[in-house]
Amino acid sequence: MLVDSVLIEPPMNERAVKAAMKEAERRRTKLLADADELKVARTRATVGALLDRWMNQHEIDATTRMTYESQIRMYIRPRLGDVPLVIFVREAAERLEPFYAHLRRCRQLCSGRPFVEKHVQDDDHDCVAAKCRVHVCRPYAASSVRSIHAILSGACSAAVRWGWISFNPMSSVRPPSKPRPNPRPPTSEQMARIVEAAWATSPEWGLYVWLSAVTGARRGEVVALQWEDVDLQAGVVRLDENYVRTPAGMLVKDTKTHQTRRVAIDGPTVELLRRRQQDCAEQLAALSVPLTGRTWVFSARPDFGRPRDPSALTRRYSRLVAKLGIDTSLKELRHYSATELLTAGVDLRTVAGRLGHGDGTTTLRHYAAWVGAADQAAATTIGARMPPGLSQRGGSPDRPTKRSRA
Ligand SMILES: [Zn+2]
Ligand SMILES: [Zn+2]
Repeated sequence: MLVDSVLIEPPMNERAVKAAMKEAERRRTKLLADADELKVARTRATVGALLDRWMNQHEIDATTRMTYESQIRMYIRPRLGDVPLVIFVREAAERLEPFYAHLRRCRQLCSGRPFVEKHVQDDDHDCVAAKCRVHVCRPYAASSVRSIHAILSGACSAAVRWGWISFNPMSSVRPPSKPRPNPRPPTSEQMARIVEAAWATSPEWGLYVWLSAVTGARRGEVVALQWEDVDLQAGVVRLDENYVRTPAGMLVKDTKTHQTRRVAIDGPTVELLRRRQQDCAEQLAALSVPLTGRTWVFSARPDFGRPRDPSALTRRYSRLVAKLGIDTSLKELRHYSATELLTAGVDLRTVAGRLGHGDGTTTLRHYAAWVGAADQAAATTIGARMPPGLSQRGGSPDRPTKRSRA
């Protein structure tokens, strides 16, 4: 609401009233013009303009910001950037739901007709050099589509607060449902082969895999370990930092839950870490550099001057397990940790504490799947203890083996 007022000047006679009325009329005209201008500004605002303004003042951590920015650039702006908010408010569900469905079918938003990627009709074109290949649709993950939904919801609710629109149309738009967690941890036998193979490549790499499996820590947490975080006396590692890639380069940030957690480690793990520390100290001594609390435990540099690149470790792990013919990924080590602990009868709260789940919901969401995996392992153990041969006579298929859990 725009308000203004005019005083009637003394001596407040008829003439003064007339003058005041005239001034009031002049100001009213100006207010109306202002109101028109505001209205135009509001109705002219586009989804793109809203996102610019929202991203400018929205407080989010560096990693989320990077994800949001790339999703806005790649998916939202090309599709909705020029759409006026007044229209978007009316058609949000109509526009977004088919868009979400399309993304879930193909992240490249192809038309569904077969085509060859990177191919161009040109005399100089060389399909081999250009690495042309037939396009195969790959769905955009449900969680990523949900992130697009979260961006638009957040921006629209800000637009309501700023008076740009009168209600948030996103509440009537249905995002794809949260994917059911489907952990497929390696079996203990597979785990042993993986650790051994990693160790054969290099003790540092072997220790990284070992420590990740034993602690159930996130990739970035293990990467960010410095010697001051490792208490060899007490047998505890402190996980309190996370090494992540941001637009400004690699950066150590707090863990997701912004809580330090201490995870106990067993004797053999302590021994391996002690040996690693000695190796590091010797290597540094050769460079006349002392090992300090700030020295990184895992580093690709001779002076251990910076932590390893987390995504490079994921790729390295994938290559390792592919060579062993095991279908798994680095993040399954967390599930491996949880499943093994539950199998061993450790209570859920302790498991959640070790994994650093900030709230119970994440743990509960995974619980059923973990218990399923743990139950499979239990069934295999019991099956292996039953007298052999009976199942063959009964005509049923193979006895379950330890591998059947994979
Ligand atoms: Zn081609
Ligand atoms: Zn496609």
